[in-house]
Amino acid sequence: MTRFRCLFIALIGICLYSALLTAQPNPVYLKTSKEIVKSALQERRGYQLLGELCQLGPRLSGSPTSLKAIDWAKSTMERMGLDRIILQPVKVPRWVRGEVEAATIVSSTRVNWRPLRVAALGGSVGTPPEGITAPVIEVQNFEELKSLGERVKGKIVFFNRPFPRDVVTTFRGYGMTVDQRVHGASEAARLGAVAVLVRSVTTSEDNVPHVGGMRYAKDVPKIPAAAIGIQDADYLSELLKEDPELTVNIQLGCENQGEVWSYNVIGDLLGSEYPEEYVVVAGHFDSWDKGQGAHDDGGGCLQALEVLDIFKRLNIKPRRTIRCIFYINEENGIRGALAYAKMADSLGLKHVAAIESDRGCFTPRGFSVTADSVVIERIAGWLPYLRQAGIEWVRPGGSGVDVAQIKKITALIGYVPDSQRYFDFHHSEKDVYEAVNPREFELGAAAMSILTYLISEEGLANSPTHSTH
Ligand SMILES: [Zn+2]
Repeated sequence: MTRFRCLFIALIGICLYSALLTAQPNPVYLKTSKEIVKSALQERRGYQLLGELCQLGPRLSGSPTSLKAIDWAKSTMERMGLDRIILQPVKVPRWVRGEVEAATIVSSTRVNWRPLRVAALGGSVGTPPEGITAPVIEVQNFEELKSLGERVKGKIVFFNRPFPRDVVTTFRGYGMTVDQRVHGASEAARLGAVAVLVRSVTTSEDNVPHVGGMRYAKDVPKIPAAAIGIQDADYLSELLKEDPELTVNIQLGCENQGEVWSYNVIGDLLGSEYPEEYVVVAGHFDSWDKGQGAHDDGGGCLQALEVLDIFKRLNIKPRRTIRCIFYINEENGIRGALAYAKMADSLGLKHVAAIESDRGCFTPRGFSVTADSVVIERIAGWLPYLRQAGIEWVRPGGSGVDVAQIKKITALIGYVPDSQRYFDFHHSEKDVYEAVNPREFELGAAAMSILTYLISEEGLANSPTHSTH
């Protein structure tokens, strides 16, 4: 072996050794990460608080129970001893479901007075007290609807496109199906329809209707819209094949009641070195009015608050300010998120990162990050710590609709748990406290805590706020 070759091999050896050294996790970070996971799993404080919140009932923005819950959130943050608590006023729409909510097959050759399980979609106008009675026409999508033209006039349009079973990530499946719920009423009204029934956008197989927001286009009449349980959707579809002339009566007592004041709830743990730099953890505090809004998104909010409580329990003094935001009105307007972003902009607040949890409280999988590639790589470099809470990956991707409104920020981050069961519960009476598993919930909170801790300690490379000190 020549001397030159010897030297070359030795050099490679040194390089490999130093690469190995730098790949070693920081022992302090590793220890803290393990302590965070232990405290979350052992004490379950956030999960217990979720139980208290769910007791209050669902939190549709603008409702009296949502205001009660906001009071509860403020006093919970006070009890926790946070350094600063802010209620930011936000005007939100008030929509009321009302007592009456029914659909019935009233004239068919086979059955009559057969009820169908329905629930008004959020924001829908109601029907006259006697309801609307009309023939039903089934479609799968807007293209098919348009091709029917004149035949839609005077009918109840029944959107019956199922949630795709063969798509692995359920959020993708949701995205492929939800247009009929959001825009179905106005698309049908353009052609003269009198009401719409929409197959529930869900992965479950029972007959519980799943609600959610819908929007009216400005230039067409507003017609009532209701979700129908999928078993009844299948039944109605079968019956229509035999008897295309059958008629259904729909009665909905819902109404829009203008706007009322509500609030974003904000709680801070002040940073010891850079108090003017914010790391946000967030969820949306409003829910739909069925169930208790446990997974969507009371759980996300309390995972965010659990981050601050874990810091307090473990006596971690963050270098940057950790800000927990409970956004109001994500479900039907994102007014809270817009108001916060506007305030942040006008005050020139320095946001380093914002992490949102709004995909349910299931087993941790990853963090999806909107930032430049250097920042994403840096966060991915923290996987040895994040793995302590079961996080498997860090990838480029979307964050959450609330935090995404913040304009000047280095990283927008979405907490991504397993997605398989979320749409079994989503926007339905099944989204209750009992549907949330304490271990899954707390592991998610621990994952968010570890990431928040590391961002607070290290900042993020390429941060627009980084160069100022
Ligand atoms: Zn949500």
